Amino acid sequence: MRVSRYNYFKPWDDNNFLAYNARSGGVALMTKDNYALYLKLTKKINARDTDHFSPEEADLLTQLKHGSFIYDGEQDELEDLHFKHNAARYDRTVLNLAIAPTMACNLACRYCYEDNKKGRMSGDIIEKIIGLVEEQTPGLRELNIAWYGGEPLLAMDIIEDLSQSFFDIQKEHKFQYASSMISNGYLLNKEKVDRLCELKVLEAQITLDGPEKYHDLNRPLKNGGGSFRTIIENLKYAADKIRLNIRVNVDKNTSIDNINELLRELDQAGLREKIGVNFGHLEAMTSACSNIAESCYNIVEFSKAEVDYYGSLLANGYVIGKLPLPSVITCMSQNINSYLIDPEGRLYKCFANLGDPSKAMGYIGKEIEYGNHNFTSLFQFNPFLDEECRQCAVLPVCLGGCPEKRTHPELKKEERCSSWKHNLEPMLEIIAYSRQQKNPMDNRS
Ligand code: SF4
Ligand code: SF4
Repeated sequence: MRVSRYNYFKPWDDNNFLAYNARSGGVALMTKDNYALYLKLTKKINARDTDHFSPEEADLLTQLKHGSFIYDGEQDELEDLHFKHNAARYDRTVLNLAIAPTMACNLACRYCYEDNKKGRMSGDIIEKIIGLVEEQTPGLRELNIAWYGGEPLLAMDIIEDLSQSFFDIQKEHKFQYASSMISNGYLLNKEKVDRLCELKVLEAQITLDGPEKYHDLNRPLKNGGGSFRTIIENLKYAADKIRLNIRVNVDKNTSIDNINELLRELDQAGLREKIGVNFGHLEAMTSACSNIAESCYNIVEFSKAEVDYYGSLLANGYVIGKLPLPSVITCMSQNINSYLIDPEGRLYKCFANLGDPSKAMGYIGKEIEYGNHNFTSLFQFNPFLDEECRQCAVLPVCLGGCPEKRTHPELKKEERCSSWKHNLEPMLEIIAYSRQQKNPMDNRS
């Protein structure tokens, strides 16, 4: 039996401690008495004195094991995580595809890194994608599709064709199927929502950058008109049918007043209890968006601001959706069987690279070249081979951060880390308050 290295305890109030374990993601309040008992237990376990436990100790031990604060066996949990990470890297029973049926978009966002590309997927590329899925059956356990772009709703016919073909293959081979979409929401009208439900697209990420005035400045239509009002009207219907995650992209121009105003507008639209809201760190990922570099937060600034943004969510009665949950793999770039596919059939490993041919790793329908630099540069990074990550208290949650950032040697070390490294403690407090439905702002004088 061993005590997890990923335990975190902090006094909460006169009677309780806040307890968190990064391996299970469990957050709970623990009474002072139980915390004292926990310390006693850890002493016993570390001294290998585990033959006898009192009924109170045995009871607490069961709860602590449930939350992974204490675990059975002699294998170091770090090695267990490393094994699971490696297994997930080479798992070919799951196929993850992010498909951009078009790179065209109806918006002209200030920071867009798609560089206003055009282009629609041809019938030939569609056939090759179907071929890729067929080729992996039988033996496929899960097929996960993310529709991406440009604006994927501009190519609804392609989404229909491909989805239908996936369903036909699924009928024969019985794998699990999940589908989601990243959309700007402007075209997400009733008719589209109903059709997406039929096509099993049951989750969508929609971006809103602030209240109407601010959002329309950042994310105007191509013709300069506002997009906010139409998106809100669309969300009113969509929220009852599909799971909606609202992403609010933030930079140094995003004030708390702006966030509060947006949250009030969402509330007035009746959306507060029907949507998740998360904050996205705007970063100048490519030359196409280098124009915004000056207004972007660095990771330390973002982590600090993020706490205030989530504090606003809490103060406005929203559920906190961002949780420090463990994962076995960072993103598609680290899994051998995950591909992003652009309309021309190029394959990529990273969302930030989609649409930039110089960053492609190959073509759909051709043999995959695992020696391709654009594949290896992202795939080769392994957080379990990095001494700093191995020693890190948030490793199970961060897993070394974004591998693409590791390809930029000019980035400061701290920039590679996820915001959890910098704001775990205050974020845990917000999450705990959220569970108690108390507002930490009430404690600030
Ligand atoms: S490498 Fe980084 S930017 Fe690219 S998909 Fe992964 S997390 Fe996202
Ligand atoms: S990148 Fe930073 S925060 Fe993430 S695991 Fe490594 S050291 Fe920890």
